[in-house]
Amino acid sequence: MTTYPQRVAANILPLSVAGTLPDAFGEWYFTDNIEDHEIANEDCELCDQEQLRYHFEIKNRRTNHHLWVGSSCILKFQVQVFENGILLDAKGSKKKLNELKQKMRLDSCVKSLRNLAETEDNVILNNALDFYLKNKYLTPKFAFVVFWRLSSNNIDHSPSFFKVSLKNDKYKQDLTQMDESRVHLIWPALTSSQRKLAIQYGHSEPDNT
Ligand SMILES: [Zn+2]
Repeated sequence: MTTYPQRVAANILPLSVAGTLPDAFGEWYFTDNIEDHEIANEDCELCDQEQLRYHFEIKNRRTNHHLWVGSSCILKFQVQVFENGILLDAKGSKKKLNELKQKMRLDSCVKSLRNLAETEDNVILNNALDFYLKNKYLTPKFAFVVFWRLSSNNIDHSPSFFKVSLKNDKYKQDLTQMDESRVHLIWPALTSSQRKLAIQYGHSEPDNT
C-alpha cells in the first residue's frame, strides 16, 4: 500500500524536470481549463482521489505534460494560479477556484432550466428561466415549480446547486404559507440558515436529510 505523498510523487515526478517535491510543483500551473463531468465519478490524476465532479487542468511549463486534478490539490500543493497574467497568492487562488466552481454550478442550473423550458412550453417555466438568468436565484415558489417539473420530466439536475432567495418579506411569507411537501421538495436548495428559518416558520425537516 502506498501513502498519499508517495502516490502524488509517483504521478507528478515522471512528468516534471525536478526530481523531488516540492520543487517539481514549481513547474506547474493551472491552465484555466475546467470540466464539469455532471456526475461525481472522476479521479484526481495527482492524488488518485475519486468521485470528483469537476476537473481542473494543470500543465508543466517545462515538459508540457498536463493532468486533470481536483481543485483541492491545486491549493494543497500550491500549483500556480494566474489571473490576467498575475500570479495569485493562496487566498486569491482559493477565491478564483471557488468562483469557477460557482460558475459551473450556475451554468449547470441554467442548462437544466433551459432544457425544462424547451420540454414544456409553459409561461411559468419560461419566466423562471428569465428570472434565474437575471437574478441567479429562484423565489421559493419558482423553486417548487422548477423542481417539481424537472423531476416529472426526468431532467438531470442538482437541486443543491440552485440558490433560493428569502431576502424579501414576500419570499419569506411565501415560504411560511407553503405546503410542507413543497418545502421539502425545495429543501436541498436551502442553505442551513434558510432551513433554520423554515423550521422557525413552522415547517419540519424532511426525514431523509
Ligand atoms: Zn487530488
